[in-house]
Amino acid sequence: MKIFEKQIDLNAHLKSISNPNSTIGFVPTMGALHSGHLSLLQESIQNNAFTVISIFVNPTQFNNQEDLEKYPRTLNHDVEKIKTVSDEIIVYAPTVEDIYEGHTVSQHFNFDGLENQMEGQFRPGHYDGVGTVVKRLFEIVKPTHAYFGEKDFQQLQVVKKLVQKLKMPIVIVCCPIHRESNGLAMSSRNERLSDSEKKQAAVIYKILKTAKTKFKTKSASTVSDLVSKTFEAIPTITLEYFQIADEVTLLPCLRKNKNKKYRAFIAVFINNIRLIDTISLN
Ligand code: AMP
Repeated sequence: MKIFEKQIDLNAHLKSISNPNSTIGFVPTMGALHSGHLSLLQESIQNNAFTVISIFVNPTQFNNQEDLEKYPRTLNHDVEKIKTVSDEIIVYAPTVEDIYEGHTVSQHFNFDGLENQMEGQFRPGHYDGVGTVVKRLFEIVKPTHAYFGEKDFQQLQVVKKLVQKLKMPIVIVCCPIHRESNGLAMSSRNERLSDSEKKQAAVIYKILKTAKTKFKTKSASTVSDLVSKTFEAIPTITLEYFQIADEVTLLPCLRKNKNKKYRAFIAVFINNIRLIDTISLN
């Protein structure tokens, strides 16, 4: 398996194995891989001549220093997991220097307002950081297809907007959410939860499913109130936000429109560990 730390070496390798017609699938990650990430890799290798995964904890998308410092970094384990999918996958695990070249700051983007909702509201500057690193990684890897998880649905919409605005010829593919058997969405941050916290966290998906059922007959604000009340009764979990929003604009649903697709988005803290999840409502 090929592992590169420097873009110059990755580029030389890609040049030596591909031709201008080759499809290159790309899976950007921050490592601490789980089977959700591996499903993105599967999707890519089934549909492309070559697959590249990046493993890079991007400092500019963190607005909380503790979250950045405690983010799990498990490169050796990650490589073993990637091998279980295929030995042919190319790993790009750069240093901060290789990506940012001594200038570790975000570019400012206008994603037509997508960046101001939910995660953007509670993590100021987050999508400037995401936009900066994804643009940089796309320029380095030059994929034809890039794979993103529905779990980070807002990020997926932001990335689609990025390639559209920058006219990058890359197909963005959305992959379904992988969950633990208790329904908890897989996440690298779950590694920081104790067994009992993981059990408690199962309530997040349970509440999303209840919200979906209620939304058939109730308004978005009634469903939101119900979710808030449910979390008030669970002292170990703090609700940061629950939002029912239009899937395309990500604007909050004030009044239901039967021609629109809606989705519920949630962020909670368990013992200072931040978890997000989402569900399609109609
Ligand atoms: P991350 O390493 O958290 O930046 O995630 C890298 C990619 O994996 C992103 O496109 C995520 O949306 C995706 N991903 C994360 N968790 C899951 C999951 N549980 N199921 C499917 N994809 C996921």
